[in-house]
Formats: sequence, structure tokens, C-alpha cells
Amino acid sequence: MRATMIHAAGDIRLSEVPDPTMQADSDAIIKVLAGCVCGSDLWSYRGENEVSEPHTIGHECIGVVEEVGSGVRDFSPGDFVIVPFCHADNTCPHCAVGMHSVCDNLGFTVSGQAEFARVTQADGSLVRLDGVPDDSMIPSVLALSDVMPTGWHAARSARVGAGHTVVVVGDGAVGLCGVLAASQMGAERVIAMSRHESRQKIARSFGATEIVAERGEEAAERVADLTSGVGADAVLECVGNGQAMETALRVARPGATVGFVGVPHGIELPVRTMFRRNVGLAGGMAPVRAYLPGLLELVVSGAIDPGPVFDAVMPLDDVAEAYRAMDERRAIKVLVRP
Ligand SMILES: [Zn+2]
Repeated sequence: MRATMIHAAGDIRLSEVPDPTMQADSDAIIKVLAGCVCGSDLWSYRGENEVSEPHTIGHECIGVVEEVGSGVRDFSPGDFVIVPFCHADNTCPHCAVGMHSVCDNLGFTVSGQAEFARVTQADGSLVRLDGVPDDSMIPSVLALSDVMPTGWHAARSARVGAGHTVVVVGDGAVGLCGVLAASQMGAERVIAMSRHESRQKIARSFGATEIVAERGEEAAERVADLTSGVGADAVLECVGNGQAMETALRVARPGATVGFVGVPHGIELPVRTMFRRNVGLAGGMAPVRAYLPGLLELVVSGAIDPGPVFDAVMPLDDVAEAYRAMDERRAIKVLVRP
């Protein structure tokens, strides 16, 4: 099959590789109809994660079941499915409390930017739609494989509630989905931190009531101004670097929780300050499968539409350009079609 491979930092190529094969009777093979590039793929692309040997890359996709293992009961070839980036059995003690991303039988999509992908724990992971959705629905449905549930997880972890003032740090696709989630959860004010006009525009359409274009110290001061010196009731940290975390912790009011979903790189926590100010931290890798059925209902009913986070669509053949466009921030998130 044709699959996206990363050979080294900055070196993305579409290559011919063997099709994925069944390795356990709980597996299924999915024919990918749409995949995309994730902000976390850029960590390797930018050399911040080491690429020790060439491997396939891409963990977000939707598609049609091609083949199922003998142990798979609930899905058959031809089913249209959303593939959560992290696979879970949906039966272990951690799945039972909604922590599917820490499942005892955790697996991951490893060829989401390709023609086929293998899902481990098919019964526990996949969510089916009635037939192939209309082309106009593809972006919003694809967003449910990672980016929307991740933004949702940030808001849930931060305990966003009705009437809250929420700050969202990060204007990537996850941050924008965090704005959408906070707004859907009843936040009264959603303050989005963004310096880019196109992203500010989407943030506003997702429910942001205010935009803070400053960074670091100045951003924290700006939030203080906007909240009469009190700070935010809930904060979503959707980047994963030291500056974003520092800002997130600073703008949280005493007693608030920072929900963090950006893969941490170079973060050191000011634990004593957190102690003194009673500011908490919660979150981690999103348990996509826990949120998927509820989020799918919201998408199908039209209550939310995360589709606009995809501001570019490219054929899989142009996947290297998709990475370049995101790396250079010419695109927020690129949808690729095999
Ligand atoms: Zn589990």
C-alpha cells in the first residue's frame, strides 16, 4: 500500500510498504477514506522527538472495515467506522472508569496517513456510522478520531461548567476544539489565546468571546485585566511546552484546575506555587473512546461542527507538503485523502 513514512526530522515520504496484516483475532483492518496530520506528528518532524529508524506515521483516520479477526463480534467488512487513535478493549478496570487511553490492552493507529490501517481491539475501539457520511461531513467525523475528543478532554479535565470563564492556551486544532468544548459545556466567557487572524476567526466561530493576542507575561496580565484580577475558573493547556504551561498556571484562579492535553515537552511544574495558590493540574492522553459516542451525537445533530479545524485538503500523494504547510503554520490542520 501507499503509506506516509518519516525517515528523519523534516523527511516525510509517501512510500510503498506491505499492507498491514492481522496479528491478533481482536484486530481489524480499515481501508482509510480520510486521514490527517496531527500537531503531535510535528514533534518528530521538527526533530523534538528522535526518529531512530524510518517508520509509518499518522494516527488519525476514518474508513471502511476491510477485514476482521475471528474474535471480532460487533463489526464486519463494509462498516463505516471512526478509528480512535488509541485503541482500547472497553472492558478492563481502566476503561470501566472512562480511562480508555490507559487501557490494559492499549494499542495505537500507526498508519493513519496511508491506504490501510490496523486497529487492535476492534470491538472495544471502533464506533460505527450508518453508512458512509456525505462528503461535507467527512471533516467533522474525522475530527472525532483525536482532535475533538482531545479538546473535550482538556475541558473535562479542567472541570469546565456552566457560567465559567475559561482560558484556552493554544490556537492549534486541539486548542480550537477546546474552545468548542468549553462553549458546549456552558462556559459564559471563553478567552482564546491566539496571535493569528485566521485562527482567531475560527475560535470566535467556535464560541470564543474574547481573544488575547499577547504571549507569556503580557498574556497573563491581559487575562488578569479581563477577569478583574481574579483569573479563570478553568484553563485548557493545549500546547505542551513550558511557556504554555506557565501561562496556563498563572491565569488560573485559586481553586481552578488546568486541563492539559498537549504532549509535554520541556515542562517543569512550579509545585510550590501550585500549592500556595491551590491550582491543580489534570488531564493527559485523551480517552477518545469514552467520549466518542456522545460527541458523534453532537456532530450528527449539528450541535457542534469541529470540521473547520481542517483548513486544507490534499491528496495523500502530497502528504510531504501537508507537513510543510503545518510546520510553517500556513495550515492549521491538513486532511489527506488516499
Ligand atoms: Zn481497557
